[in-house]
Amino acid sequence: MTVQLKADTALVALAGRSFSLIPRDASRAEAAERLGSCRFGVVLNSTQRPLALITADDLDPVSASRVPLRPVVTCAPELALGELADSDGITLLDLTHGFVLVAQDAVVGVVPAATIEAYLPHHRAHDVRSSDWKVSASDSGLPGTSTAEALVVCQNCSYVNSVAFYDPRRPPICGGSQSPEHALEIALDS
Ligand SMILES: [Zn+2]
Repeated sequence: MTVQLKADTALVALAGRSFSLIPRDASRAEAAERLGSCRFGVVLNSTQRPLALITADDLDPVSASRVPLRPVVTCAPELALGELADSDGITLLDLTHGFVLVAQDAVVGVVPAATIEAYLPHHRAHDVRSSDWKVSASDSGLPGTSTAEALVVCQNCSYVNSVAFYDPRRPPICGGSQSPEHALEIALDS
């Protein structure tokens, strides 16, 4: 891919179309068949919304029973890299294989997490340079805005949590009603 990673590059310009859609109730064997040679599998819930994002590695071994529901992050295709990097949404990068672009309730592409990670050093370098002439460093960007949303299925109680900000040192509390209150258990690489 020769698209440049710049602040105003829209995510859709970086998105790959190597993904397949997998129903939530698929077995691992069915999911592996649907995935085929695609890079990503977008697991959909019963209303066809993204629920999880997986790769072939997540289906290994294929004989195990269930498809692991790795967190999925969704955002708008026209979102710019710079906007994402300045927002809380960038903290969701640690949770997922990639950012799933959704337009009119349909999945239109997946931007690999590695692509966004590759942009971040450029973004930070730009920030340092511009602070030389800026009077105030505090007026850049709007704090607290969220441009992306992660859906995280709790591995303890199966409740689907919507997460806008993620700090691995302070794991969120699961929003499920099951008592006792517990930390959100996230399906991540072990
Ligand atoms: Zn839970």
